[in-house]
Amino acid sequence: MTTKEFLQQLITNPEQLSNLVEEAIEMAFQQGFLFRTCETPNSSEVVTYAPFTLFPSAVPKARLVQALEVQTHFNTLVDKISQDPDFLEEALASTIQADDFTARLVSIYRQVQQEGQTQSIVVGLNRSDYMVEQSMDGTSSLKQVEINTIAAAGFGVLDRLPEVHRHILRTTGLLKESECVQDTNMTPAMAAALAKAWEVYGQKKAVILFLVEDVQISQLTQRYSEIELWNRNIPVIRRKFEEVSRRGSLDGDKRLFIFLNQKMRLFITQNSYIGTQLAGTKKIQQVLASPGVLEKFFPDQPQVVEQIRATGLYTLDMGPEGDQTVAMALTNPHKFVLKPQREGGGNNYYGEDIVQVLQKFKNDQRRAAYILMDKIQPRTEQNIPLRKGLPPRLTTVSYEIGVFGAYVRYEGEMILNEALGPVLRTKSIEHDDAGVVRGVAMFDSPLVV
Ligand code: ADP
Ligand code: MG
Ligand code: MG
Repeated sequence: MTTKEFLQQLITNPEQLSNLVEEAIEMAFQQGFLFRTCETPNSSEVVTYAPFTLFPSAVPKARLVQALEVQTHFNTLVDKISQDPDFLEEALASTIQADDFTARLVSIYRQVQQEGQTQSIVVGLNRSDYMVEQSMDGTSSLKQVEINTIAAAGFGVLDRLPEVHRHILRTTGLLKESECVQDTNMTPAMAAALAKAWEVYGQKKAVILFLVEDVQISQLTQRYSEIELWNRNIPVIRRKFEEVSRRGSLDGDKRLFIFLNQKMRLFITQNSYIGTQLAGTKKIQQVLASPGVLEKFFPDQPQVVEQIRATGLYTLDMGPEGDQTVAMALTNPHKFVLKPQREGGGNNYYGEDIVQVLQKFKNDQRRAAYILMDKIQPRTEQNIPLRKGLPPRLTTVSYEIGVFGAYVRYEGEMILNEALGPVLRTKSIEHDDAGVVRGVAMFDSPLVV
């Protein structure tokens, strides 16, 4: 029997379904696959399981390998772009006319540039996201959704999920399939990258600072990464943005000092990651898809350019090319996604909403705040979403593969550049947009087929 056949039978047997769901949830608790609740996001007094799919999703092995193989090139690309003020300024010129948020980022970037870059050690954590499209003839292809820079969400608990899924498959007698669920070891690998940077910094008293938001629903997850660092005798502190701006100060070498409760002064390296953040904007992804642009970053490596080139992204800058994009989107809105320069899911426009936005902005430069992208039609699966408070129901879902990558640059040289492993986030096809914290997507693991 396959997972698919098992699922069909399972939904006709409510008692069996409820037992299996209970088993999966308990296994999740046992494995430490935990999340704070939306009701109490700043306390771990009451916690729940992170949302996940009852079964892992089948991913074609070739597509998984492909996504993992190109990640080191994406790391290199992000790093090169983050250090290329001319490219960033030119690529974002129209966007900053139309989008305040990006304009403010660019203005900080300029300030950092003017002050002269003093940072010799850079750590990059990226995640490239893909969907798998399936054609009629059964062949599959990998389509990039976006690149996220400074992406660390999900480390920790994610390494715990394969064990939960394997257990579910074993208990349902799907032994062969249980062997196709691979373990991931992303959290130690990510910590190793941070540790490498800490080591080359060469100060025993240096600490690694986790800059956190006021609402800390992911704190339990982040604890796994912290523990990995403490186990290497690397001190970690957590501080809110507001605390750092209140209690931190930079010295002449742009090192950040933070006053700790014990009145001890510890320092961490200066944060000049603004270029990296800009490199991860949707606009940059669109510019990179234009002919000749990737070639500039990989001049002697046409095979790399070939591997990482994204397709189906269109400019909305003022001019004939942007006009063409508008016309195309208004004619066939359901074939596209309209994206502003934002992160975290829930910001994009689809279908008739695209028409509304573009009707409003089609003739003025405010349209340059967005990019347009071909809508990917991912392959769909059947699964049962498990989320606190949601009755378990057979649901048609689609997944997004994310591949984490880490790099460390020291004095102009890449001393570490790795793909850390795949994560799957799965959502019901009822939703166009994703986001685990938003309550739409669930964690999932690949069943490699
Ligand atoms: P964010 O930075 O907010 O995560 P994304 O570009 O990843 O922005 O878009 C959010 C979600 O919207 C994705 O996780 C995916 O579900 C959906 N999405 C984005 N681009 C496309 C696309 N080209 N085709 C289909 N769905 C898409
Ligand atoms: Mg993103
Ligand atoms: Mg995304």
